[in-house]
Amino acid sequence: MQETDWDAVLEVVEDRARRWLESLPDRPVYRPADAAAVRERLADTLTDEGVAAERVVAELADGVDDFLAAHASGRYFGFVIGGLLPAAWGADLLATTWDQNAGLHHVAPGAAVVEQIAGEWLVDLLDLPAESSVGFVTGGQMATFTCLAAARHEVLRRAGWDVEADGLQGAPTVAVVVKADTHSTVPRALRFLGLGADSGMPVACDDQSRIDPADLRRVLEEITGPTVVAVEAGNVNTGAFDDFAAVAAAAAAHRERGNPTWVHVDGAIGLWSRACPSHRHLADGLEALDSWSTDAHKLLNVPYDSGLAVCRHRAAHRAAMSTHASYLMHAEGDERDQMDFNPEFSRRARGTAVYAALRSLGRDGVARIVARTSRMAERFAERLAASGRAEIRNEVVLNQVLVRWLADDGDHDGLADRVINRIQADGTAFFSGTTWHDERLMRISVSDRATDTSDVDRAVEALLRCAEQA
Ligand SMILES: *Cc1c(COP(=O)(O)O)cnc(C)c1O
Repeated sequence: MQETDWDAVLEVVEDRARRWLESLPDRPVYRPADAAAVRERLADTLTDEGVAAERVVAELADGVDDFLAAHASGRYFGFVIGGLLPAAWGADLLATTWDQNAGLHHVAPGAAVVEQIAGEWLVDLLDLPAESSVGFVTGGQMATFTCLAAARHEVLRRAGWDVEADGLQGAPTVAVVVKADTHSTVPRALRFLGLGADSGMPVACDDQSRIDPADLRRVLEEITGPTVVAVEAGNVNTGAFDDFAAVAAAAAAHRERGNPTWVHVDGAIGLWSRACPSHRHLADGLEALDSWSTDAHKLLNVPYDSGLAVCRHRAAHRAAMSTHASYLMHAEGDERDQMDFNPEFSRRARGTAVYAALRSLGRDGVARIVARTSRMAERFAERLAASGRAEIRNEVVLNQVLVRWLADDGDHDGLADRVINRIQADGTAFFSGTTWHDERLMRISVSDRATDTSDVDRAVEALLRCAEQA
């Protein structure tokens, strides 16, 4: 039996947390390491008698320290990875400390209402239909899964089929329409839903990975029956937004031909532009669609893991997710059971950090993150293009930049990977790569509120140095 000495553990946690946060501006952003190198620094034998709590925590923190990535350093530009907002961080620490089972209002009412309020703020901030429901999930993947489950429910319900009760065997075929350049989480969600990863009819995209509305209309005209369409606010490579007015018009015409239709928007990156006056126009028109997924752990800078699933059709959202059991106490009146809107049963009080983030930032603060990360992305594009060593492949509309490194010997693809490997080992900043429209490119994603001009300039200098050596 372990002693309960919270003070001793708290002391270690406070010390290691403080050291971590203070080290962020100067520590290497990343160090490549194979599993054996990490394992060497960690206790990897399970004992019979156990180890004192404060020692476990201290040795764990010290053991992994060299192998942690400084996502919140202001100079982590790989993938699409957000930084750390102080209010969200503090609230999340407390959410773990409170250890609430936040699935049902009656089990932990405080956590339920915090999440309810955060959901209302979110719908208001993103200017989505007021009747929308919100599910707090682990990330964009599960947000898309949740929304597409609601979509599957609703288009089949309108076709006279109860998919929740009867499943897909014998059901009317659900046609799935996706962009050729869709994010991999969309086919993965379709796979989880029994619709098949490759069932989606691909729609052509333009040179910025935006959906081609004429091709969408053509694909829809060939379909009869229940139809689910997925489009994007913020493509993972280019950051581009689809033409939502054209998508909504194509969907409306399809619906008028008698086909139950649902359009989902993957807004993991771009949905936040709705909260920013200078970027709002990019996402105009998506409010006419049916569901929206986004991430709080990207541009909102909430700690991992935090995604948001928003549906215009609350009843469909609820039908797809809710469950009942005789031993549970379900919400009454204006209460909200989290379990009705996310796929988990027991779960952490996930909405707490989102509540704290939105309250601390306010509308202006969210707008500032969107505007500033976009400005920093533009600065990258300008400085790298001006160097003569690189070309920018995308129109930089938000926080994403695609860089083509120019090799003297013409092997631009090879140079891209060499620069990426060098900068990752260098540790000044972190960038990752992509293959996009048959070219090997370096991707830049500015998703941390902390990134400032000096971070961008330091990162550009390091990149040019690596390109010289590569
Ligand atoms: C990051 C991302 C996702 C997946 O989100 P997770 O939070 O990693 O599950 C989906 N779509 C796009 C466009 C993304 O950038």
